[in-house]
Amino acid sequence: MYDIRGEYVRLVGDTIDYIKTGVRSTTTEPSGSTARTGPKGPTPPKDKILTGLVKEVLQCTRCGLHRGRLNAVPGEGSIDADILFIGEGPGKMEDIKGMPFVGKAGQLLTKMLAAIDLTREEVYITNVVKCRPPENRTPLPEEIEQCLPFLQKQIAFIDPLVICCLGGPAAGTVLGLGAGITKLRGTIHRYMPPEDSGSNSAGSSHGVPVVATYHPAAVLRFPEKYKRSVWNDLKLLRDFYRDISEKR
Ligand code: URA
Repeated sequence: MYDIRGEYVRLVGDTIDYIKTGVRSTTTEPSGSTARTGPKGPTPPKDKILTGLVKEVLQCTRCGLHRGRLNAVPGEGSIDADILFIGEGPGKMEDIKGMPFVGKAGQLLTKMLAAIDLTREEVYITNVVKCRPPENRTPLPEEIEQCLPFLQKQIAFIDPLVICCLGGPAAGTVLGLGAGITKLRGTIHRYMPPEDSGSNSAGSSHGVPVVATYHPAAVLRFPEKYKRSVWNDLKLLRDFYRDISEKR
């Protein structure tokens, strides 16, 4: 018999989880029915894994940034996103609201997405560090290092077709290259997931394609300097994504 009460409880649970965690459950089936089979047997459904990860982020005390935070900002969007956007770290508004890219740079990011026919709901947006650095300073290497496993797991579970890094710290962290954003932008790179991250691409020689561009905050500060390059990078992202989606 159809368990309508169980289904209702599950839906309320998913809604509460979404409000708390920003992870949108995409399953309309009863909980557990989307379980995948991994190398070690059935794994829990993707939404449950990500919700667990988000809860870990919210309670994290691995580095000093947790002391100054109002809210940790795990990320938000579709867990089935084809494109994952990665910024640097939460700013003031993000810290207040617990959501990524909701300040002025976030408004510009929303417009950038619209310019290539994307919505915030269909992509996933997160940051290299999940807690706001004081005075919005660049995250320190040790803060990035402590937070990196969260990002690696997000990439593994979301399993995007392409990653877009916003700004030097995101590009440097994801690509692990010593080069700055001006050198890294304008071309497709590859993210190589660590073997233990659970990623489908771990161990493969292909990795996940990465487009890097300037951070929206940089565009807001120096539009003349960065706007054209960012538009070119967005077109690269759009065309590359269209190309690989057609070949799937
Ligand atoms: N800048 C970032 O890098 N991330 C945010 O979430 C907001 C501003």
